[in-house]
Amino acid sequence: MPAPQCATCHKARAALRRPRSGRALCGACFCAAFEAEVLHTVVAGRLLPSGAVVAVGASGGKDSTVLAHVLQVLAPRLGISLRLVAVDEGIGGYRDAALAAVRRQAARWELPLTVVAYADLFGGWTMDAVARSTAGSGRSRACCTFCGVLRRRALEEGARLVGATHIVTGHNADDMAETVLMNFLRGDAARLARGGGLGSPGEGGALPRCRPLQLASQKEVVLYAHFRRLDYFSEECVYAPEAFRGHARHLLKLLEAARPSAVLDLVHSAERLALAPAARPPAPGACSRCGALASRALCQACALLDGLNRGRPRLAIGKGRRGLDEAGPPRDGEPERAPAPDAVPAF
Ligand code: SF4
Ligand code: ZN
Repeated sequence: MPAPQCATCHKARAALRRPRSGRALCGACFCAAFEAEVLHTVVAGRLLPSGAVVAVGASGGKDSTVLAHVLQVLAPRLGISLRLVAVDEGIGGYRDAALAAVRRQAARWELPLTVVAYADLFGGWTMDAVARSTAGSGRSRACCTFCGVLRRRALEEGARLVGATHIVTGHNADDMAETVLMNFLRGDAARLARGGGLGSPGEGGALPRCRPLQLASQKEVVLYAHFRRLDYFSEECVYAPEAFRGHARHLLKLLEAARPSAVLDLVHSAERLALAPAARPPAPGACSRCGALASRALCQACALLDGLNRGRPRLAIGKGRRGLDEAGPPRDGEPERAPAPDAVPAF
């Protein structure tokens, strides 16, 4: 049976059926609709004001690749300018290839690219060194949580370096739903409370962050990359398989099979969560060492580096004295989500 006609242009043959709406569209009309939806997310949410200098957290993975491309298309209408900021975590055999993809994107789209490295920012610590230091301590499985904290800080530093006024990250709806599930599974009310919305306004001197793809499903992000022929890096980080996020992802797939709206339902439920006064997290203050936003004396990054330097890696994330939790990597191995201090996807 021949493919139906595109439901939008009524000229070309449909190349896909949109997962969410079921509409049969040609590739060009799908991409135009996807871009229009991201534009609506940005404008309706007032995420990026005209004149903003936007640092795009670029990992070379599909989400940040699609985000950078869509924002580049939309930049003239939004009146924003873009900078790519990539983080080199120091993961042998993985990050080099991903960074090569970011460099190709920067050259192709003529966007300025800045790479910031953990080793330079954090006293020589790379993720490989952190993994070695935590191996056998029962904490090596939490590599992604350690990485998420450092990555959040690194992206902030990189964005400041390029004079950005705003930071955007490529988290999509599936990533957000996984994060909500993980926070539920950990009983982490404080992080659930902070996890809604499309970003954070930039408390405590931090740059405002947002996630323009937060309402786009992972399937549609992949379809967009396919139809726009985007060049991205799709291998998984070597530390990803151990992460708790993988279990949340598996659970989400099962839920989605039974209830196709499960992903967006979870994203929206996080936005609507209201906590009883006793469960509300305390107002964050400033880290006594670096001045970053912190809910304890030291911010997450300083507490982590402190532990590593003393030979007692610890991470004060999660509940109570357990003190260590696993956030896990985002989808394609891109560490875009970090836990606290604002407990949402990090990047
Ligand atoms: Fe970092 Fe992502 Fe690798 Fe985890 S999967 S260690 S978050 S780069
Ligand atoms: Zn600090």
